[in-house]
Amino acid sequence: MRWEGNDLVVEILFSQAGLATQVLVGAGSTYLLFDAGDGTLRDLLERGVSPQKLAGVFITHGHADHMASLWGLLGYLRAEGHTESFTIWYPQGACEVAEVLAAFRRCYGSTIPYELADHPLSDGELVRVENVEVLARKLEHWHSIQGKPLAPAPALGYRITFLGQIVAITGDTAFHPGLEDLLRGADLALIEATWEEPGPKGLHLTRAQAEALAQLAQSVFFIHRRDGRVLIQGDLRQFS
Ligand SMILES: [Zn+2]
Repeated sequence: MRWEGNDLVVEILFSQAGLATQVLVGAGSTYLLFDAGDGTLRDLLERGVSPQKLAGVFITHGHADHMASLWGLLGYLRAEGHTESFTIWYPQGACEVAEVLAAFRRCYGSTIPYELADHPLSDGELVRVENVEVLARKLEHWHSIQGKPLAPAPALGYRITFLGQIVAITGDTAFHPGLEDLLRGADLALIEATWEEPGPKGLHLTRAQAEALAQLAQSVFFIHRRDGRVLIQGDLRQFS
């Protein structure tokens, strides 16, 4: 499922709650991945997109359905003899991401042919990649087992600006006051809409909450649903 703006393409490669979410953003000649759940390599290669085109990956939080393919991506680039730098941006304190990066460096050290950069992000931090700006905003998501919340997980939403266009991505989040700032005025919003009925506090948005937030943006992808279906709202000519 794709949305096209001005020299800007956003493609939901796959998104299903608990299984995997990965989103490709092509802004001019800059390609960025937002989350890298299971199957990311397959999804990219099936579409004819070489992982070597990516400048890096922005991870929303450290849960497996958003980063299980991180090792695969890093290993693929190493095996292909990639030489450009590759950056992983992720929420400060997301130990899952930091540990995968540390293990990869421990295993392969000086035989990693590319510069593997990692950049933990805090609320309000702004990153520039070529002509793309990405603003990190802290949201609320919890670690859980069988739907039982255990402890808060560092979680970020991202607001991307390119050629005056704005794409906002919530990642996984409970309802949080920061969502309005993140989504307001976006040309395209990717809003998680995990639940049909309200669930435990701190975990996810319901579809009704997601639909209310969708009023803040021009066009919307509702993602991270339990049935794996991506729903859209907005000018249908921009979607394919
Ligand atoms: Zn998730």
